[in-house]
This record gives sequence, C-alpha cells and structure tokens, in this order.
Amino acid sequence: MTVNTATIGYPRIGRNREWKKAIEAYWKQETTEAELHNQLHELYVNQLRIQKDKGIDFVSVGDFSYYDHMLDTAVMFNIIPARFKKQNLSALDTYYAMARGNKEAEACEMTKWFNTNYHYIVPEFTDVTPALNENRPLAYWQKAKDELALNGKPLLIGPATFILLGKGFKQEEVSSLFAQLTPLYIQVIKELHEAGAEWIQIDEPIFVTNKAEGYWKEVEAFYQRISEEVPGANLIIQTYFEALDNYQSVVNLPVNAFGLDFVHDERKNSEAIKAHGFPKGKKLFAGVIDGRNVWKSNLIEKAALVSELQKLVGKEEVIVQPSSTLLHVPVTVETEQELPADIRAGLSFAEEKLTELELLKDLLKGDSEAVKAHQQEIEAFSKVANRVHTKTRAELEQIDDQALSRASVAERQRLQKEKFDLPLLPTTTIGSLPQTAEVRSKRLKWKQGQLTNEQYEAFIKEETKRWIEVQEEIGIDVLVHGEFERTDMVEFFGERLGGMLTTKNGWVQSYGSRCVRPPVVYGDVYLVEPMTVKEIVYAQSLTEKVVKGMLTGPITILNWSFPRTDISKYESMNQIALAIRKEVKALEEAGVHMIQVDEPALREGLPIRAEKQAAYLNATVEAFRLATTGVEDTTQIHTHMCYSKFDDMIDTISALDADVISIEASRSHGNIISSFEQYSYDKEIGLGIYDIHSPRIPSFEEMTNNLDRALRVLNPAQFWVNPDCGLKTRNEKQVIDALTQMVNVTKKYREKLAAVAQ
Ligand code: GLN
Ligand code: ZN
Repeated sequence: MTVNTATIGYPRIGRNREWKKAIEAYWKQETTEAELHNQLHELYVNQLRIQKDKGIDFVSVGDFSYYDHMLDTAVMFNIIPARFKKQNLSALDTYYAMARGNKEAEACEMTKWFNTNYHYIVPEFTDVTPALNENRPLAYWQKAKDELALNGKPLLIGPATFILLGKGFKQEEVSSLFAQLTPLYIQVIKELHEAGAEWIQIDEPIFVTNKAEGYWKEVEAFYQRISEEVPGANLIIQTYFEALDNYQSVVNLPVNAFGLDFVHDERKNSEAIKAHGFPKGKKLFAGVIDGRNVWKSNLIEKAALVSELQKLVGKEEVIVQPSSTLLHVPVTVETEQELPADIRAGLSFAEEKLTELELLKDLLKGDSEAVKAHQQEIEAFSKVANRVHTKTRAELEQIDDQALSRASVAERQRLQKEKFDLPLLPTTTIGSLPQTAEVRSKRLKWKQGQLTNEQYEAFIKEETKRWIEVQEEIGIDVLVHGEFERTDMVEFFGERLGGMLTTKNGWVQSYGSRCVRPPVVYGDVYLVEPMTVKEIVYAQSLTEKVVKGMLTGPITILNWSFPRTDISKYESMNQIALAIRKEVKALEEAGVHMIQVDEPALREGLPIRAEKQAAYLNATVEAFRLATTGVEDTTQIHTHMCYSKFDDMIDTISALDADVISIEASRSHGNIISSFEQYSYDKEIGLGIYDIHSPRIPSFEEMTNNLDRALRVLNPAQFWVNPDCGLKTRNEKQVIDALTQMVNVTKKYREKLAAVAQ
C-alpha cells in the first residue's frame, strides 16, 4: 500500500539567496526587467526540480513570487490603489511600488502573516475595480509543465482569506467583494482545469481563525458557484497553522479535498474527524511533518498518526505533506557543516523535510529499515550534553513578584526627568544606522579571516564615531551607537547566548527581499558573558549626550528563533529573560542608564486561537519584566515595537512597565493613535512619525501632520519624536535627510507649543 506525498509551498529564495540578490539588483537598476524574469524563472524551476526529484507526488506550483503572494493575488485581480494606477508604470514597477512606495505614493501597508515572521502586503480594496489582469497560477503551472513535464498543483489564495485579510472596506461590503471576485476566480480555475491541472489548491488559512464566521453564507455561495461552473475541477481547501475553527462547516463545502495541519492543532483536527466523520470519497491532505520548525520528525510517531487518519478517512484517501508551506524554514541543512554533528543530526530544513516525506512513504509501505538511520540521529540529538543548564533553572526558581516590580511610574518619571533633563519632545532613533555595503563587506571579510579581530573592531569603532558626530550635528537628543557590529537584532544575541546556535546559511524570508537567519534554541539559554557593554560604553565615551543601550528582548529573541519543543516555550522565554536581565545589569553598572529592550515581535507570537491568548500575554509580560526590572528607578528602560498592529493590546504594552516605548505608527496610518483616545497611557511614548521601510523622505508637512495627529491625543510632556523603526536598511543620505527633517519639524513644533503656552 503506497501513500502519496505533497508539498504546499517551498522556499523561494534559493540555496544562496539568489532570489534576494536578483530582485535587489533590479531595484538598483543594475539589471533589466528581462534579466530579472530570467533569473527568477530559473530559481522557480529549480525549486520545483528539487521537489520532483525527491519524489513528491503533488508539488504545488505558483507559490513562487516576486515579493509576496498576497500582493501577487491583489495585482492579479487588479486590486491596485489609484495612487499607483495613475502613475502609469510598467506592471512590474507598479507591483514593486505597491510593496515599497515611491516618491509619489506611500507603500501599501505590510503586516504579519498569521503567527509567523513572514509579512504580507495588505490588499487595499478602496475604490478598486476587480478584474483579471493575468492568470498567474496558469502561467506558473504551464512553466512547470513545459520545463519539467510536471503536472503541478497550482495554488491560489482563497477569497475569504484574501478579502478578510485586506482593508479599505466596510463589513457590509464584504458580500459585494465576494460577488465581484467570484467570476474572476471561476475564470482562473476554469482555465487551469481546461489546461489539465489535476488538483488545484485554494489556501484558506483564515478558516483556522473565527474571522470568516460572520461571512459563511458568502463562503458557501462562492464554493457552490465554483462547483457548478467548473464541475470537473478537483479543489483542495488548504488550511494551516492551527486546527479548523469550525470543522463541520468547512468539510461541508463542495470541494474534493481538505488540507489540514496535524502538527500545530493540538490534536483538535483529528479529534474533530473522529467526532464528526470525514466526507466520504474526499481526500485528506494531512500535514504531519512540521513546516514551521527545524527539528527532525520522529517518523515512527508520524506513521502512527497517518495510520490513525487512514482508519478514520479511508486508506486511499490520505496524502501526507508538511503542515504548511516550507517557506518558513531554511533551505537545507547541508550547508551547515560547521555545526556540531550531534546537533546537526537533529535538524531538518526544507530539503530534508522532503526526504522525511519519502522516508515516511517507505515506512508506511512497511519498510522500517529505511528510517533506522533517521531515528538514530534523533536519538543522538536528544543526548546532546549541554541541553540542561542547572544554574539557570535554579536561579529562575528564586525569582518572585518583588524581583519583577519597580517604583511607581510617577516616581520614576520624576527621578528620570531630573536626571536626564531632556527638552520637550525629545528626539531619538530606534537603534540601527545604515548597514552600508562597506559595513557588510568588512564583516564578511572578517568572517572569512581576511580581517583580524582588531581590524574589524577598529572599523566598527570608526563607524560608530562618525555616526555619533552625525547625530550630534543633526541635533538628535538621545543618541544610539548604530548597531554596526550586528547583522541582525536576534542573530547577534543567538550567537552569544548559551543554549542557542546560529546557522551559516539558514535564511528565511521575512518581508520582501529581506531574509533573516533565525537562531535555533536547542538547550537551556544562559548568559555566557556580557554581549553589548563594550560597544555602548565606547559610544558613550564620545559624547556628552545620552547614548541608549540597545538590546533585543526575550519575547522577540524567542519568537524569531526556532524554539525547542521538549520544554514549554514560556520556559525558554524566561531563561532568555534572565540572561537579558543580567546584561541590563551589566550595562547599568558600566554607567549606561538609558537602556532599550526591543520587542517588535511581541504581537507575532500571539496564538491564533483566542482561548490561548491570555496565557501568552501573561507570559510575555512576565518575561519582559524579568528582563528589565533589575535596575535602579533612575535607569530609564525603553522598548520598541513594530511590524504589526498593537492598537488592541495597549493594556499589555502598559503592563510591560517600560518607562518609554516607541511604536511604529506611520505605516499603519494612525490606527494606533486613535486607540490612545480610549486608553489613558501614563508612560512616555514615541509614535513613529515617518516610515523607514520606504526610501522616500516625507515632506516637512507630512511629518508635522503625523506629529500633530499624535499630539492631539497624547500629552507633549510624555511624547518622544522618532522614526518608525531602525534605519539599517536605508542609505546614509536618506537617513541624514530624514532625521534632519525630523529634528527641524520638532524644533518648529516646540516653538509652536511655547508660543501657545505664553
Ligand atoms: N533596535 C533595532 C533596530 O533599530 C530594532 C529593530 C526592529 O524593531 N525591528 O534595528
Ligand atoms: Zn522596529
């Protein structure tokens, strides 16, 4: 008895991030559009070839993208805001303008994709006329057919997910959006079916949330129409990241197959099948190999799970696959030869997961020899020596409520105002400064041994010094050292903390062309030695102004790493928090009395299902406090958040008890600001007054308006002026121009406030 295998998405970036390099070269106008198409075509075909060669039976096609799959869907259906349409750019440049903004128009909003560290471009449905610009999945399907004789499984984002994750419409307009998009989906699916696509995958991850609940009539009508208009097409409704919110409603939809996550569902999906049955004759695409994490699967256990599903659903009907697209894991462990062998033995990235599917297939056929070596590797990893750090465990036991609290906010504010004596509306930045080609090339040379430690450190010092001067010249009030020594805000700490490892080439797409290398938490985490003191103390020695210490917080370190699965995530988070607490203390002792602990990923880790959210939020507050409350009341703790909506979690943000928070605000067009109308926030706060993701420098008026809007709801005495986020991705000129503008706007504003006060 053989079982078939499938994939539902694969990393786009290539083994060496060729994807990123090709796209960025096009942006810099180093290559032409035709060259970009050629390069990406090759990458696309290659990713399919790998899957085909590994023997995957149903390979998904058209998961590939030039930036983001939600943006692809929007452009395909002509959901293109007027501010881009009217520029009359080429199709490709319109696409990239929507993603990145340009001189004439602000970029579309970007936000996180469910509980992952992937960010999608939010479709804007304001004043648009849906139309089919191109049958994208068909083009990708055809390429697979022509190049590899592969009858792939084309993939579309389903209408419920596409619309409900979008913006720019009222609740009562959802029906009409479904109605407008339905004929377009029909045409796409019809053409795919007529061309010969055997299976068509419709991603509806929104079905694991309760967001579609109020629109179920529209959802049913849509799938009903498709089944009537294209009766022969085999549709799979594919979900992932959680159990279905409403199993019975989903499996009643008139399609031929359902794809469910059996890794992140806490057994709820299999329980639902047991309790309510599975529709006869339909296929179950069973996500049994973890598509989100990097650990080898215990295939004996997986085979047992598959057998259980086969009993419930029918032997012929189950197809095995990863629990989600493999976009969220790195490409291959093969490039990680420098890792200790017993640790590497425990890892499985995208290519290895394909092998796991093959092995699982063999095992289900009855060939248990095939998985012997695999199972032994898992065994070897479980015995890695330093996975338990007893000292950390004992110290955590000792932490009580008192260790987690500080003096009242009012008292701290009084002490800190006196100590720092900053002007009204103090200006600052979020931490990183341009990681120029020079910075990156020096780091590379140092890593390759072409620069000595001393040479590299001298360069970092030079760069820090230059930028301290630049910041002073611009007139910023609270300075930063620039983070030149860091590649990435999490990786830097992952390299230095005990119990964590970093990879050489384990890149994962984060947003657009930006990739990150998430560290791996493989054991108990602890502080080996101070990680940031030297650089900050040096920067502080160069100036009379205050330089903020700069750390990444425990929530973000954990959420942007691959967590271990043998202890709870919250336990790991507290271990990291304890390490950061020691680092904060070390900074304070070295004379650094303003310390920022960044938590941009706070929101990202929020469980999808409402019933799990309170526990998560409590755990994050505890971890952040553990990291930051070990200091004197005169020491000012800052934090920073970005990349997602925070307007509905102000109370959690407040409970973190940071003295100052900076939050991204300009790209989400002020939603966060209005939430402060309802909530009286008693700490200091800076709502970003310009978007740093775009190369565009906002005008004086624009920045003033953003500041003005914030100060309509917040008291100037509690307000800081800063950009939305770190400046590492911008070039030197953009940063200097933008910050100069920001300081000028602030000075003008201070004058205005002073005039009013008189
Ligand atoms: N301090 C970090 C930086 O400026 C914060 C980055 C972030 O929030 N993503 O780059
Ligand atoms: Zn940020």
